[in-house]
Amino acid sequence: MAVIGRVALVGAGPGDPDLLTRRAVARLRAADLVLFDALVDERVLKLARRAQRFFVGKRAGRHALSQAEIHAVMIRAARRGRRVVRLKGGDPFVFGRGGEEALALQAAGIPFEIVPGVTSLLSGPSLAGIPVTHRGVAGSVLVTTGHDVEAFSAMVRGLKAPGVTLIIAMGYGRRMPLAEALLEAGWPASTPVALVAGASLPGQHVWRGTLSRLAAGEGACDGEAPTLIVVGDVAAMALVSESDLVEDEREWRMRRSEC
Ligand code: SAH
Repeated sequence: MAVIGRVALVGAGPGDPDLLTRRAVARLRAADLVLFDALVDERVLKLARRAQRFFVGKRAGRHALSQAEIHAVMIRAARRGRRVVRLKGGDPFVFGRGGEEALALQAAGIPFEIVPGVTSLLSGPSLAGIPVTHRGVAGSVLVTTGHDVEAFSAMVRGLKAPGVTLIIAMGYGRRMPLAEALLEAGWPASTPVALVAGASLPGQHVWRGTLSRLAAGEGACDGEAPTLIVVGDVAAMALVSESDLVEDEREWRMRRSEC
C-alpha cells in the first residue's frame, strides 16, 4: 500500500503567535510542507522549522495559485506521504475557503483534520476592548463580509434586530458605501462604529466614531493592515486599561496626521 500523508487545515489566529493553539504549534513543528496565505505572520511561519513553505495566497489583488491548484498541490504532496499544513489566518472555516479545501480532500480520499483557530472576527473586537455581546446592550452578533456592497445592502435591509453587533470583514476599502447601506436601511446616524486594524499585530490601532462619520469618509488611514468594521452600541466601548487607551489614542492621532 502506498504511504499516504495527511493534511491539516490550520487556523493561525489573528497574527500574534501567542494566540496560536497548542495543536496548531504541534502541526507546524511536524510539517514537511506549509502552504500559507497573505495574512499569516512571519513569526508563525518560523515555527515550521523543517518544512518547505510556499505562499499560495493573494498579493496585490492577484492569486499566486488558483483554488484548484492549491487543492492539487495538497493532494499530490499527501499522496507522496508528506505532512502538509494548510495555514490560514484566523479560523480556516471563517471566510477562509477552508470548507472548499476540506471537500476536495474528502473527495480525493486524503486523511485530513481541521485545527480551529482564534478568528480575527471575534478576537479583533476583544483585543480592542469591545465585548461583542454585553448584557443589556447587545444580545446577538452578525459576522459578515463587506466584499460585495449589493449583497450586504440586501442582507441589512432584512435585518431589524435591536441590540445586534455587526462585524464586517473585508470591508475596509468599501466602508463608505457600506455605511451608506446601513443608513439607508434605517440604522441611526449616531450608531457607534469602530475600525479595528491589525488586531494583535504590532501596529494595532482603533478608530471610534459613528455611522454618519464613517459615511462621510472619516476613519481613513494607511489601509495596509487587515481591518474589521464593528457596528453597534458596543463599538463605543473601550474596555482596555487607562494607560493602554491613552497610548492607543496617541498612536491613532499620530497615524491620522500621516493620512
Ligand atoms: N479566516 C479569517 C478571516 C479571513 S477574511 C479569520 O477567521 O480571522 C480576511 C479579513 O479578516 C480581513 O479583510 C479583515 O477584515 C479581517 N482580519 C484578519 N486578520 C485581522 C486582524 N489581525 N485584525 C483585524 N482584522 C483582521
